[in-house]
Amino acid sequence: MLQDKFGLICNVANQRSAAWAIAKACDAAGARLAIGYLADRELDQLHKLLPELSRPPLLLRCDVGQDDSLAAAHAALSSEFGRVDFLTHSIAFASMDDLKGRFVDTSRDGFLLAHNISAYSLAALCRTVEPLMTSGGSVVALSYIGAVRAIPNYNVMGVAKASLEATVRYLAADLGPQGIRVNAISAGPMRTLASAAIGDFKRMYSHHAEVSPLRHNTTQEEVADTSVFLFSDRSRGITGDVIYVDSGYHILGL
Ligand code: NAD
Repeated sequence: MLQDKFGLICNVANQRSAAWAIAKACDAAGARLAIGYLADRELDQLHKLLPELSRPPLLLRCDVGQDDSLAAAHAALSSEFGRVDFLTHSIAFASMDDLKGRFVDTSRDGFLLAHNISAYSLAALCRTVEPLMTSGGSVVALSYIGAVRAIPNYNVMGVAKASLEATVRYLAADLGPQGIRVNAISAGPMRTLASAAIGDFKRMYSHHAEVSPLRHNTTQEEVADTSVFLFSDRSRGITGDVIYVDSGYHILGL
């Protein structure tokens, strides 16, 4: 489904990262990949995983809090690929102190940090690849139901995800005339490094499997398969949307 397409996947931290499952699915679907990582520790993990791909990806250090890091990523993509057809934004960060207790106690710095890395970064990354999406493109960002419901402990990250989902809509309106589509996948809870930082995550995780209509937890592979669909031409009529991949949890009231 992605034969002859070039994709940038940001960022992989380890084998549990949603971004890693997306990378494997896109590789299997025939895409040529650039994979982002934050720093040396993540690069070490990534090197161990690379044999699982059919061909070596371009590896890019990508810190979305640093404009020079994004400029370097643009330069490398430009010289190695010459174009980009799809982008995964699978990035979030907040201080652990802000992922427990009461949202009302969030500090100004904690609020700005979460929004900068988890939401503004989508606009910054789109600006980075826009000049390379010369034949249109597809962007997918990962969100969570905490964007639209108050979830215990998710706190400032829920507000940042609301901002991320609004950013998806504004970007879709801006970039649509160039044939660039922008969507989000709202995933159910998955066991990853990022989710380990959320207070009482295990309770959230087991509750989800117990009550969701499909009675199982979301897997990284389910998110990856939906990403492949959104990157492919099969989804050419969809933009500005949030697609739930969460075993149907979001339809429930009680
Ligand atoms: P993860 O820890 O594997 O991924 C988070 C990534 O963000 C890591 O690669 C990390 O290096 C990167 N990152 C942090 N700060 C960065 C910065 N300054 N610049 C660039 N990259 C930075 O965990 P994950 O669960 O795979 O998270 C991926 C996405 O999925 C996030 O947006 C997360 O909110 C979302 N999500 C996760 C769940 C879940 O339950 N795990 C559910 C719904 C949505």
